[in-house]
Amino acid sequence: MEVIESVALMQSKAEELRLSGSTIGFVPTMGFLHEGHLELMRVAGRLSDKVIVSIFVNPAQFGPQEDFAKYPRDTQGDLAKVEKVPVDIVFMPSAAEMYPEGFQSKVSVGDLSRHLCGLSRPGHFDGVATVVCKLFNITKPHIAVFGQKDYQQLAVISRMVEDMAMDVDIVGVPTVREEDGLAMSSRNAYLSAEERRSALCLKKAMDRAGELYARGERDSSVLKSSMERLILEHPFTNIDYVSVCDPVTLDDLETLGDRFLIALAVKVGKTRLIDNRLVKKANNFERSGS
Ligand code: AMP
Repeated sequence: MEVIESVALMQSKAEELRLSGSTIGFVPTMGFLHEGHLELMRVAGRLSDKVIVSIFVNPAQFGPQEDFAKYPRDTQGDLAKVEKVPVDIVFMPSAAEMYPEGFQSKVSVGDLSRHLCGLSRPGHFDGVATVVCKLFNITKPHIAVFGQKDYQQLAVISRMVEDMAMDVDIVGVPTVREEDGLAMSSRNAYLSAEERRSALCLKKAMDRAGELYARGERDSSVLKSSMERLILEHPFTNIDYVSVCDPVTLDDLETLGDRFLIALAVKVGKTRLIDNRLVKKANNFERSGS
């Protein structure tokens, strides 16, 4: 496994792979890797000849009051994990390498970026789209793999790729969960034992909404208020949003049809957690991420 820190070197390596006829599968991450990330890499490995993983905590997607400085990092641990997947190349640039003096371009995906997390994290998805666009230009992938855990991110990237005719196939992978149902996340490392217990409220809230829908409830406000009540019964919780929305546009829904998305963002203590579930009528409810 090769570790590359320079943009120029990564680009020439990717070009070399392409010229030799290899297909490239790319998995962008911010490191502090867990089983969810590793699953994305396995999927990339099944769908392509060579797997490139990036580890880059992207300052441009964190707001001024957010956790960029204290975002968990463990480079040696990460490298040991990816080696076992296996991965061919780890691209690990510095912030100065990605955003050199004079950098001033931005990729902005319109409406999709303004819903859900975009409301409380203004500029977040511009930061995500910009870095992913740049990473695509550096790693030159044929396919790129993202988690459905970050549903809106997957929607924004898919939109960007389609709008800009980027020649890369985007693949979404279901959310990998802890045994009790908590979605794996690097930020789970922030939770105290008591907060960890409360964190399960996201999954429980989606279960409750799914049950209400399965019993015939079609008023989204009933689902939402029931989820909100359940979440707030758990200590340390503070709701950012509870949304029942269209899975394509992410617009809020009033009356529920055969297919909709539940998306949640809840602060548990100081840790902001997100989760989502795609609900379909045919089999009562199907977990987007699970
Ligand atoms: P991050 O390092 O949090 O930026 O995530 C990197 C990639 O891993 C993104 O595509 C995420 O959606 C994906 N990811 C994070 N957590 C999970 C999970 N529990 N299951 C599946 N994919 C995940």
